[in-house]
Amino acid sequence: MKIFDTLQRRKIDFEPIEPGKVGIYVCGPTVYNLIHIGNARPMIVFDTFRRYLEYKGYDVNYVSNFTDVDDKIIKAANEAGVPSSEISEKYIAECKKDMSDLNVKPATVHPQATKEIDGMIKMIQTLIDNGHAYVAEDGTVYFAVGTDKGYGKLSHKDMNEMMSGLRDLKVSGEEQKKDPNDFVLWKPKKEGEPYWESPWCEGRPGWHIECSVMSQKYIGDTIDIHCGGEDLIFPHHENEIAQSECATGKPFCNYWMHNGFLKINNEKMSKSLGNFFTVRDITAQYDPMVLRLFILSAQYRTPLNFSKELMDQTKASYERILNCTDKLKELMGKAAALGMTEAENEGKAQAEQFIKDFEAAMDDDNNTANAETAVFELVRLANATTDESSSKEYIEYISGVIRTLCDGVLGVISERKTESLDTEIEELIAKRQAARKAKDFKTADAIRDQLNAMGIILEDTKDGVKWKKA
Ligand code: AMP
Ligand code: ZN
Repeated sequence: MKIFDTLQRRKIDFEPIEPGKVGIYVCGPTVYNLIHIGNARPMIVFDTFRRYLEYKGYDVNYVSNFTDVDDKIIKAANEAGVPSSEISEKYIAECKKDMSDLNVKPATVHPQATKEIDGMIKMIQTLIDNGHAYVAEDGTVYFAVGTDKGYGKLSHKDMNEMMSGLRDLKVSGEEQKKDPNDFVLWKPKKEGEPYWESPWCEGRPGWHIECSVMSQKYIGDTIDIHCGGEDLIFPHHENEIAQSECATGKPFCNYWMHNGFLKINNEKMSKSLGNFFTVRDITAQYDPMVLRLFILSAQYRTPLNFSKELMDQTKASYERILNCTDKLKELMGKAAALGMTEAENEGKAQAEQFIKDFEAAMDDDNNTANAETAVFELVRLANATTDESSSKEYIEYISGVIRTLCDGVLGVISERKTESLDTEIEELIAKRQAARKAKDFKTADAIRDQLNAMGIILEDTKDGVKWKKA
């Protein structure tokens, strides 16, 4: 399997540190409002990558944090007049709901910055002790970028260039930095902000240190793969490398994977530009699986432009998958338990080729676009090679392949959701029957109208009330 490594700027063969095991760290969202569909891109593409590693038999330790202390969270909390933990807990729960709707598997661990402060203080102290960090007069602790020879290697920035570019920069409050490139590890509290005791001042951690500490605690000093959006390459990930490698003396991460942006009108979708749709906006209009299928329709490093037209096209493609599994389910009920015919054996051989294509796509740097193509080929094959005379064995085989690749690896649920609708309809019918029994015909008629409006037609039969879709 090959991965494009941002640090080496090329595709390289993947070798885990420990055979059969993979430790992945994915930078998670800052939780101060609902996530937008751009934030959902790393969640979906790296969840799919994780699922593929599991499909290949790896034991995956998948760690993804929630940044729950940050200026934006504090601002939202102050505006609402509540503690910042109330805002972050609320939006962690909302984010988990979106993830579940999008069929993103929960991480092995979802650490939260505010619960890992002790570890951050320890790592900062180590960096001060070994000369990579210093404490300014007001208690701010800075990482001294000039002490790290490798600084800039991930983002391919030249330190001398950065220095000359920043030489004249005087940001207010930052005059105490020894070098304009130095970054904050710990900062003093301000009025109305949450804070923790530390050897330097009452305050809170900088953003970057949390990921260095949490990846070390839950994976180890060296992690296999680190993922996130490409906007995190600099400074966030560059700074994580600096902190971790200077604290442990070991390489921080073996493979760096960065997703490209989800765009709208060719501009990055972001909260600050105001050009975003939340996951909630989209799932109110489309099945969440349509969004998942759309996000996976591009290789994760390429930019992806969002539009209603593309979503509608994807919706139609998703319907093709659902229609196919509907058909297979129906045929399964009728099929004879016979062995495969010669023609079905040929169908199986074609399916095996599509499985190979799927794996080749995923082995080529998580190319979900080509993997989707292989799934659509399978759907086409399943439609073309099954009918009422098909054997149970063949239908089971082809349904199983779709379930494994589409549902299992791509995380796109291939079966039409009917259960909740069925339950709702059954409940309304029961209510209508009860109303009729009580001679409350007005209510009974109103329920019939409501069901009609849902496209449900009722039929009174000798076996009771039956319903069908109009
Ligand atoms: P944030 O909450 O801004 O730290 O973002 C959480 C994750 O979403 C990070 O990995 C970002 O790189 C990623 N992200 C934010 N906006 C976009 C976008 N428009 N397209 C793709 N990824 C994004
Ligand atoms: Zn991070």
